[in-house]
Amino acid sequence: MSLVSVVVPVYNEEELIEWSHGRLKETMDSSGVDYELIFVNDGSRDRSPELLRSICESDPRSKMLSFSRNFGHQCAISAGMRESKGDAVVVIDADLQDPPEVILAMIEKWREGYDVVYGKRGKRKGETAFKLLTAKIFYRVLDSLTTVDIPVDTGDFRLLSRRVCDVMNSLPEHNRYIRGLVSWVGFKQCAVEYIREERTAGETKYTLKKMIRLATDGIVSFSYKPLMFAAGLGVFTAAASALYLIVALILDLCGVWAINGLYYIGGFILMALGFLMIAVGIVGRYLGQMLDEARGRPYYIIAEKVGFDD
Ligand code: UDP
Ligand code: MG
Repeated sequence: MSLVSVVVPVYNEEELIEWSHGRLKETMDSSGVDYELIFVNDGSRDRSPELLRSICESDPRSKMLSFSRNFGHQCAISAGMRESKGDAVVVIDADLQDPPEVILAMIEKWREGYDVVYGKRGKRKGETAFKLLTAKIFYRVLDSLTTVDIPVDTGDFRLLSRRVCDVMNSLPEHNRYIRGLVSWVGFKQCAVEYIREERTAGETKYTLKKMIRLATDGIVSFSYKPLMFAAGLGVFTAAASALYLIVALILDLCGVWAINGLYYIGGFILMALGFLMIAVGIVGRYLGQMLDEARGRPYYIIAEKVGFDD
């Protein structure tokens, strides 16, 4: 029988972790597959670790990893994926805002041969207008900036096949924007749509600071466009000031407009600034290449080999 690992990041979730475990267990028991529940305690400061310890004692299918401090949601997911043994790995938040029953549909799709089944939020209940708006804007901005096709309105609730999980585990980069990396890995991917529920207890653990960190990690990890922005602005500034100088000179020579020397100096300074920005953009391009090398992502991933001996 195939084994499915369920990875659950946990940060200060004492109000709901037992309920969460119960509901996950119930769902997975009904799935007909063998499973393990891996709870990753991301440096919680409440009673979550104690509760998890007793959950693990009473349920042989539950396991816990505990971080020495709060490293963040994306690191917690990565650690759980690394420790997972399953033929498929599902990542789900501890608050179960993403209904665990959707896992059954994901497993179905995985059986049909998909390597990645991601949950797409058709609707999000009970979230603040601010969160909904910022999430919506962020996903669209990221989409327009990146070359990798990262599906909009999806979080980290998804199923990965063992081979995709192995590729993810082999990526050495530290600033991990998991949903982007999963898209980048490729293979056969599909979505299941669902309605995102309200949090049953506790508050969001994603502070504004953490949201900004996640958003900038996403953009920096998958786009060079901000680096090129300086160059673009530089070309515009240099061209505009050159045009201004030429027009001013012609008007001056024709005696239409006797220009004060300061206008010329201003024009030259602007043009020099433009060239400087172009230079910054060029440095940015090299920096981008260095980032690529430092990240050490493989430059291709083979999905299948036919007719080779090994
Ligand atoms: N989480 C975590 N580390 C953090 C912040 C959050 O492991 O630093 C966990 C949290 O316990 C939850 C999941 O990540 O299981 C998603 O967090 P949350 O539900 O607060 O985010 P939201 O749904 O509001 O975006
Ligand atoms: Mg949540």
